[in-house]
Amino acid sequence: MTRDAIDAVIRALLNEKDFLNGLDEKIGDGDHGLNMARGAQAVGDALGELDDGADTKKILHTIGAAVTANVGGSAGPLYGAALSAAADVLDENSAVDAATLEKIFGAVISEIQKRGNAVQGEKTMLDVLIPIHESFSAENCAGKSLEEILTQARDAARDGLEFTKTIAAKKGRAAALGNKSVGFEDPGAASTLIIFRALCGFWKDNLRN
Ligand code: ADP
Ligand code: MG
Repeated sequence: MTRDAIDAVIRALLNEKDFLNGLDEKIGDGDHGLNMARGAQAVGDALGELDDGADTKKILHTIGAAVTANVGGSAGPLYGAALSAAADVLDENSAVDAATLEKIFGAVISEIQKRGNAVQGEKTMLDVLIPIHESFSAENCAGKSLEEILTQARDAARDGLEFTKTIAAKKGRAAALGNKSVGFEDPGAASTLIIFRALCGFWKDNLRN
């Protein structure tokens, strides 16, 4: 199940390689799609070497280490560390539900902020991750089915990416452009949306409400 979800993400990232490179050409150095494709390849290879019986925690730790070891740029190490942070909060009782997802995204955001020192509104992947995290709060999920919760989270992620178009970059390569970065989507925020959309699509098709 976890492997199939990850396979869906790998396919989505490989499909969007040129699109992500194109976004990064506008406000960076044009390699974000390549970096994410390299990550996807490393994750696929690492999954292939894992025991069939590996649980989700082990899988996430392994692919986190693979991304960290194989992907350069600013985003690669952040995504690698984020996967390891997600693994750390899981236990054998964890299910795909709002409470677990809130915990995972909380841990991912803390780790990325610890490493990259960014906050919301600086035109990074956090502008998608933070709205996703907020959408999984108990308050925002009360009385909703998993399908509704995932739709709400995906919409929040999409709005987060739209928001990055309206602001200037304050972190990463694009920060050098200052106000000239306004009007363009942040590549890392776009790859986060692509990853999350692939996961939501997989969960909606494969999980019971
Ligand atoms: P590089 O900028 O080194 O070429 P990538 O192109 O792979 O690396 O990744 C760029 C993305 O990394 C940006 O679009 C942004 O979302 C993300 N990023 C850069 N710096 C930070 C940071 N300090 N915190 C969070 N995300 C960041
Ligand atoms: Mg780049």
